[in-house]
Amino acid sequence: MKNVAIFGSTGSIGESTLNVIRENRSLFNVVTLVAGKNIEKLVKQIEEFNPKNVYIIDKENAETLKSKYKDINVFYGEEGMEEISNLQDFDISVSALVGVAGLKPTYNMIKNGKTVALANKEVLVAGGELVMETAKKSGARLLTVDSEHSAIMQCLNGEENNKIDKILLTASGGPFFDKEITDKITVEEALNHPTWNMGKKVTIDSSTMMNKGFEVIEAKWLFNVEPNQIEVVVHRKSLVHSMVQFKDGTIMANIGPKSMQIPIAYALNYPNRLSNNIEKLDLFKVADLKFEKPDLDKFKCLKLAYIATEKGHCYQVILNAANEILVEAFLNRKIKYTDIPKGIEKMLNSYEKIELNTVEEILEFDKEVKTKTKEYLKLT
Ligand code: NDP
Repeated sequence: MKNVAIFGSTGSIGESTLNVIRENRSLFNVVTLVAGKNIEKLVKQIEEFNPKNVYIIDKENAETLKSKYKDINVFYGEEGMEEISNLQDFDISVSALVGVAGLKPTYNMIKNGKTVALANKEVLVAGGELVMETAKKSGARLLTVDSEHSAIMQCLNGEENNKIDKILLTASGGPFFDKEITDKITVEEALNHPTWNMGKKVTIDSSTMMNKGFEVIEAKWLFNVEPNQIEVVVHRKSLVHSMVQFKDGTIMANIGPKSMQIPIAYALNYPNRLSNNIEKLDLFKVADLKFEKPDLDKFKCLKLAYIATEKGHCYQVILNAANEILVEAFLNRKIKYTDIPKGIEKMLNSYEKIELNTVEEILEFDKEVKTKTKEYLKLT
């Protein structure tokens, strides 16, 4: 029986993780649930999974939980996040907070040598080198639940990375691949993802293809390859989850149903596969698999992600921080869709290169860029 901690339990990945656990009660036990603001959903999860530790951001909500559940350790606020992410009573943690908010807790778990199944890709965008170096030192195991990276991990199947010619990172292309991108695009149109049902921020990132840019950075760190060895391949059906082309020309592809439960279950039970009730893929019905090149002039966010990756670490922190503010502003209907790449480019061009060596330095710089992005948008 594995004890599982879920950071982001009330989100899309968190709920899919709980579905996997619900279907495999004899294998997994929930010890920790971490939520942001959604106390109603958290209460339902507590009732069903009976965890030892829970976290919610606000003190008031935490007090409500404390008076309702006397036997549960309730944490809140910044200090509470430090404490709960330093607990040692789990075998595997699913890191599924959204944005850079997940960096410090994930770093703590890695530093403590724990096994972490990572969904929160912004952790590697903002802190890739530090997280990977820390994992090496502490002996922590970093597994991935991003479907593309899980696919790559499975295609590599333990082969050394010097055998890789390139990684073919598949992308759905999002809702605008076949449409024109204009400043008239509405929040509803951008949230209408053709193949995946996810949290709002990652859905907007998928529509701009910034999500794929983040995944390029994530792949660079997870598989120790150069950015020019990672090629984005648009595959509208989202059935090929990614591929690895080896130096002898062989391409290994991971193909399967579109469900986040599969890579989550694979990480939770690594290296063994679990059975599930998800409908199997019928390749005769699929009939054909099509691959296209992304237009980097149209999907400027993807281009900016490659530029930031080439320019160095602090530019990846800028890319992520500016994007978080711009996406939130778009979701709050304060800016136009086309302002997202414009704002990111502006921020990338506003800074000289600096060294960021610790989590604290990264988070301080992240805050500074966010303030500057808000000033630029006149949101302060
Ligand atoms: P959601 O927005 O659905 O969920 C985010 C979760 O994090 C929620 O439980 C939210 O709590 C919680 N949360 C957010 N901020 C804080 C905070 N400051 N403190 C504590 N809890 C917080 O996102 P997704 O599940 O879609 O995505 C999570 C991560 O996984 C993202 O980085 C995304 O890019 C990545 N990912 C997602 C995929 C998907 O299919 N959804 C696929 C692959 C990767 P609450 O709702 O209670 O406020």
